[in-house]
Amino acid sequence: MSETKGLILVFTGNGKGKTTAALGMGLRAWGQGMKVLVLQFIKGGWKYGELNAPARLGPGFEIRQLGEGFTRVGNGKSLEEHRAAARAALNEAEKEVAAGNFDLIILDEILYALKFGLISLDEVLALLDKKPPRLHIVLTGRDAPPEIIDRADLVTEMKEIKHHYQKGIRAQRGIEF
Ligand code: ATP
Ligand code: MG
Repeated sequence: MSETKGLILVFTGNGKGKTTAALGMGLRAWGQGMKVLVLQFIKGGWKYGELNAPARLGPGFEIRQLGEGFTRVGNGKSLEEHRAAARAALNEAEKEVAAGNFDLIILDEILYALKFGLISLDEVLALLDKKPPRLHIVLTGRDAPPEIIDRADLVTEMKEIKHHYQKGIRAQRGIEF
């Protein structure tokens, strides 16, 4: 059997599919008996279907929502509260990366937290530097900065060709949330 080489994978771009690609990869890894952790840096307003996955899939697939909602949308939280939540999420990521309990860690919307200045580029690069050799890490979010792209082994850009929102079709259960 070939040796495991832990990768840094990035799903970025304006098109839909970044988080779902990461979750799909998580499902694939879970199916291989690997242990998967999803840390969500930004908590959306929806009851995301994937949050029900761990209860159904059983051990080996874990999701933790750590952020405080979207900064852009007024959700009653101050920038300071968002910063604190993003920082807590980063600390959790550091802890889990170091602990070695998982084979694949998905840092969902970490690039969004970065884009909005809730955490710094240096902190994210430092986290990636601590990655144990066999651990795979996935980062998602729009506008991956060049330094992260440089550091990654795989980068895929989701490109919007068409989105049903443009036709006024609202978010659909099972598709968006
Ligand atoms: P998904 O979670 O569906 O894979 P994503 O992770 O690529 O989407 P985000 O930037 O995290 O996208 O945005 C989350 C939500 O915004 C999704 O529900 C998605 O449908 C919506 N969205 C993503 N891309 C677009 C777009 N180009 N136009 C309008 N809405 C979008
Ligand atoms: Mg997403």
